[in-house]
Amino acid sequence: MRRSKFKNSLSGKQRRLSEAHEIELLDSWIEVMKPDSGTNPLSIPPPPPTAPVGRILGGGFSPYAGCKLFRQLPISQKTKDGLAPKYTEMSEIQRASLPHSLCGRDILGAAKTGSGKTLAFIIPVIETLYRARWGPEDGVGSIIISPTKELAGQLFEELKTVGKHHSLSAGLLIGGRKDVDEEKQRVNSLNILVCTPGRLLQHMDETPNFECSQLQVLVLDEADRILDAGFKMEVDAIISQLPKQRQTLLFSATQTKSVKDLARLSLKDPEYISVHAESVTATPERLKQIAMIVPLDQKLNMLWSFIKANLHSKILVFLSSCKEVKFVYEAFKKLRPGIPLKCLHGRMKQNVRMAIYLEFCEKTSVLFSTDVASRGLDFPGVDWVVQVDCPEDIPAYIHRVGRTARFTSEGKSVLFLLPSEKEMFTKLQAVEPKIPIQLKKPKTEKLQPISELLSSLLVKYPDMQHLAKRAFVTYLKSIHLQRDRDVFDVSKLPIEEFAASLGLPMTPKIRFISQKQTKQKASVETIHEQENGTKVVNREMQSIDRSNMEIEDDVLLPKETSLIDAEGNKPADLSTRVLKKKKLKINVHRPLGTRVKYDEEGNVIPPLAALADMDSGDGALHPDKVKERYAKLREEMKERDKEDKILHRERLRDRRTKEKIKRKRWREGEEEVDKEDGGSESDDTEKGKHKRSKIYFDSDNDDDEKKGKENVGVSADSVSIAEQEALALKLLSSMHS
Ligand code: ADP
Ligand code: MG
Repeated sequence: MRRSKFKNSLSGKQRRLSEAHEIELLDSWIEVMKPDSGTNPLSIPPPPPTAPVGRILGGGFSPYAGCKLFRQLPISQKTKDGLAPKYTEMSEIQRASLPHSLCGRDILGAAKTGSGKTLAFIIPVIETLYRARWGPEDGVGSIIISPTKELAGQLFEELKTVGKHHSLSAGLLIGGRKDVDEEKQRVNSLNILVCTPGRLLQHMDETPNFECSQLQVLVLDEADRILDAGFKMEVDAIISQLPKQRQTLLFSATQTKSVKDLARLSLKDPEYISVHAESVTATPERLKQIAMIVPLDQKLNMLWSFIKANLHSKILVFLSSCKEVKFVYEAFKKLRPGIPLKCLHGRMKQNVRMAIYLEFCEKTSVLFSTDVASRGLDFPGVDWVVQVDCPEDIPAYIHRVGRTARFTSEGKSVLFLLPSEKEMFTKLQAVEPKIPIQLKKPKTEKLQPISELLSSLLVKYPDMQHLAKRAFVTYLKSIHLQRDRDVFDVSKLPIEEFAASLGLPMTPKIRFISQKQTKQKASVETIHEQENGTKVVNREMQSIDRSNMEIEDDVLLPKETSLIDAEGNKPADLSTRVLKKKKLKINVHRPLGTRVKYDEEGNVIPPLAALADMDSGDGALHPDKVKERYAKLREEMKERDKEDKILHRERLRDRRTKEKIKRKRWREGEEEVDKEDGGSESDDTEKGKHKRSKIYFDSDNDDDEKKGKENVGVSADSVSIAEQEALALKLLSSMHS
């Protein structure tokens, strides 16, 4: 961003004088032409030519109502030069918000996906610091926070373009980069930080003398996402370290309405700018949206057929988990559809992630992705957004489809819904403003079934079988963990057909356990008092309620331990579809304490008769034998007690390790808790080392992360199901970033 234009033609002194003069003019222009608070220049007429400037006319007016070009705004020549020639005319959100943000007001801006919100905050950031004559010694003047690394990278690029003639310095601080130490040395001299919450917090915690007490402008892009529960800890900690006297700009296509959220940010009389409030649709007008009912076991056939029918289109495919993305990508790649395929998810190394992102910007191809690509990313020319797995809610839907039909371009989207997820369609149709989505019948005659092909692939490549199993399990888990119970119901899914459709020869083991019962432990001991006062210890395996399920947790559990049963034994093999059916059920209704025993002839003997002295003929209990038996039972109980204690200690240790890893992750600055890695920003690194404006901190601490990940593994027995679920929920919700 080092300025160049003035430097060539003017001496340093002249330049400073001319800058001072320009800033003076801009300041007075802004002061005199302040639009009335609460006015939207889009919806009110410009003042009549005779009206005194700055006066309120009736319902108020905006001197900027007629302004459609960037050059009509009170912004510096350098910014205008940075905007031209690409940007001349303003988009609606820019026209509506810039007059307010340029005079220092807080903004809560909502505008459809692809409508140009980025410039609506980048311009005031640059202008405010320029007019304040911000220099290297002034430290951090503005912080721009993005929920994902790719989006942060994209914002940083836009900032570099628009600010290229300014002498402000900016840095991209995102997780997973090498040389945090180098970053720490430089971060204090940067004026604008573009970052993900975790990495920013890491600097706040660890960088000596990290200073942001002079912060002028805080920006939250995708504000509703940044303010949601997934980032709560980081964002609260960040905000507590920022000065209250500052300008705050919040932008998103689906804006937060929570007063609590806004209170957290202590906004001062924010301007609520919603350019699509009057619009009939919540999604871009040029976007054609359809939904189709596709049974779970037909999804891959449908996706394959869709890709084969659109070989010349740029297609973005959303799936719900990294594992699914990996499997579908690898499998389809081997089946060679005739169009380049790519995949993007949080478990990839950061440098690979960035490379894929850039490649998909350039080339016609199919990109399989998790929700990591659902927000903010501006891939040019996406023809189709295909949602193979149902989005978690309506905002998620809006952001996913928003990857196409951006700015003035057209786009199409298709949503696959399971028969049991039809309620999502009803919900989408019911929202205001509307989402114009139509239900279409899939053309089943054009369907190309690929399950057979997948089966043979899995035979040929054993690794693929593992991927398929993982995909199967994580998909079911993601459905199980969804909050919207009207839409998502794992018990309605044709699980065996689904496994077969992935080419799996057998259904991977999934365990259904009711939460209530898991809390009680699967193995239950009771001391049952008989009428005669004799105490009998019973140790019975409880039968398992299948109404709810606990799924083998591949994110939390290492492969070796994930299949440990309630008794701590490892089953010999994954159960097959056949085995599953054969599995014996234990009758829960059988009264406790009535363990049936047989004598050598196979006759049933009454409880405790085994202890009776048969020789005495009256069946009475022999006191010595009873004593002996109780002594034995006591020993057994003591033994079990010891085991329990060891187990408890292990549990505590695991929990501590988990907490430690969690804390470490947060510090690592990731938008996704479940990713293993970080990485480097490839090409700009070298350049960045020499130019302040292009500092690209290169790093790759994925090794550490991986080590951490391995430790995450906890055995099924050592953590309660509630804890596992809470953690899994966290992992999944952050996966949906
Ligand atoms: P949003 O954040 O609202 O989803 P972006 O800021 O990513 O949208 O902008 C979407 C696209 O529109 C980008 O490619 C951007 O370069 C382009 N764009 C934004 N504003 C303008 C403008 N005023 N004139 C031309 N193109 C613009
Ligand atoms: Mg955006």
